[in-house]
Amino acid sequence: MITVLKQNATKEQQDKLIKWFENQGLQVHISKGKYQTVLGLVGDTSEVDEELVMALDIVESVTRVSESFKKANRKFHPENSVIEVGNVKVGGGHFALIAGPCSVESESQIKGIAKAVKASGASILRGGAFKPRTSPYDFQGMRAEGLELLAEAKKETGMPIVTEIMNASHLPLFEDVDMIQIGARNMQNFELLKEVGKTRKPILLKRGLANTFKELLMSAEYIMSEGNENVILCERGIRTFETFTRNTLDLSAIPALRELTHLPVVIDPSHATGRARYVEPMAMAAAAAGADGVMIEVHNDPARALCDGAQSITPEQFDTVAKKVMKIRSIALED
Ligand code: PEP
Ligand code: MN
Repeated sequence: MITVLKQNATKEQQDKLIKWFENQGLQVHISKGKYQTVLGLVGDTSEVDEELVMALDIVESVTRVSESFKKANRKFHPENSVIEVGNVKVGGGHFALIAGPCSVESESQIKGIAKAVKASGASILRGGAFKPRTSPYDFQGMRAEGLELLAEAKKETGMPIVTEIMNASHLPLFEDVDMIQIGARNMQNFELLKEVGKTRKPILLKRGLANTFKELLMSAEYIMSEGNENVILCERGIRTFETFTRNTLDLSAIPALRELTHLPVVIDPSHATGRARYVEPMAMAAAAAGADGVMIEVHNDPARALCDGAQSITPEQFDTVAKKVMKIRSIALED
């Protein structure tokens, strides 16, 4: 249930109303916007007397929210959320250029790529340390050592880092990580979602291979219901009957999720297409459609990459993509 307060409501009146809701066993989510304050009520609201609330002097409107995602719902938080990843803001007009290799492979590889993508304008460094691979015989990532190398690359470049977690027991190793990625395969690993929800680190939540927008938002809700509201959503392509591309990039995620939620939406054109030469046009399309950022796999030597070489672009190619994306974004922002 959502209660929109009138502009002239005093703090004392607001606090009194919030207490009254809380005494009925409800959690009150307060969203103070420029023009209005919205109280989102989470819990069993069936006993709340709507007429009584509506009759209060300070109440503008009361609406019941039928969707099962509440904290992620735009109705609860009308303004776009801005998530802080280290010193970088994402969402609400702040665009994130996230780049780096699929996997951390060596000290020189991650540091070299980090410096190159930073010089081209990337704001956040990506790199997998724990890798979810289809085959157990494929490279599984450098694991803890990979995280240490990422932390060193962060120290040297000043870029915040994002990397995937696959097991909640690894959380202590993620101390230096600025944003924790939940990969597509773990989007519905609810126990893992609850555990990262107990941290206060930003979470990059990827859409599952065969999941709907609403399921993605329910997964975000798992994280947020534990108290961590720092969630960024990522569309990375879904499974369809098309096999020419690795997945099918669903760019309608941008306007659709924009409507349903206040959380930022980032596009990953690398995993979505699986082909390096499609990354540039799809990244440009994402920027044109109003994404809050793109995440791109960059490798110094794609042909020898230990993971996802076919979809990785070189630092030189990234430089061109970054320029084009930022140019398109500036046009997309014009009225
Ligand atoms: C990744 O970003 O490295 C990754 C494995 O992505 P996804 O979960 O989207 O497949
Ligand atoms: Mn990859």
